[in-house]
Amino acid sequence: MKSGKLIVFSAPSGSGKTTLVHHLLDQKLPLQFSVSATSRPPRGKEVEGKDYNFITPTEFQAQIKKDAFIEYEEVYKDTYYGTLKSEVARIWSQECHVVFDIDVQGGLAIKKQYPEQTLAIFVQPPSIAELEKRLRQRKTETEEALKQRLEKAAYELSFAPQFDRMVVNDELERAKKEVLALVKDFIG
Ligand code: 5GP
Repeated sequence: MKSGKLIVFSAPSGSGKTTLVHHLLDQKLPLQFSVSATSRPPRGKEVEGKDYNFITPTEFQAQIKKDAFIEYEEVYKDTYYGTLKSEVARIWSQECHVVFDIDVQGGLAIKKQYPEQTLAIFVQPPSIAELEKRLRQRKTETEEALKQRLEKAAYELSFAPQFDRMVVNDELERAKKEVLALVKDFIG
C-alpha cells in the first residue's frame, strides 16, 4: 500500500471522541494511530512517541519552516499541535490506514488535502444541554471556564456539516458499533 486511507475523528471536548478512537484501535484492523507533535509538555501518564511527540516550541517552529506538517494548529494560546508528513508516510509504509484524533480545523484540513482518501467523522455530544450537564457533574470547571467550553463547543458544532459522517455519542455502546461499521465499510 503506497498511500492508504485516512480516518479523522474530531469533536468538541467532552464528546467522548478519545474513547471511540481507542475502541477502534483495539480491533484487529490494519489501523494505526497518528501520533501528533505538540509543543506542550507531557501530562500525567502520557508517553513520548505514543501519545504525542513532545517537542520544544523552537523545534515546532523549525518543523513549520521545513514544511514538515500536513496540518498544524495553535489549538490553545502558544500551544501548537500538528501532524507530521513523516508520521503518515510511516504508517502507510506499514500497510496500515491512519487514524487521527485532532481538532475540528485540523480534521477539515486533512479532508481538504486528501478528499478521496479521507473519512472525516464528527463525534457529537447529544446536545449542548447534555454537554453542560456532564461538565457541571464533573465539577472541575469554574463558572467562567464552563462558559468558555460551552461557547467553544457551540462554535465547533457549527463545523459538523462539513464532515463526511456524524456520530452522536448519546449511548456509548451504540456509538462504538456505529463507528466500527463506518470504518470497516470505508477501508473495505
Ligand atoms: P490535548 O492537549 O487535550 O491532548 O489536546 C488538545 C486538542 O488538540 C484536542 O482537541 C486534540 O484533538 C487536538 N490535537 C491533537 N493533536 C492534534 C494535531 O496534530 N493537529 C490538530 N489540529 N489538533 C490536534
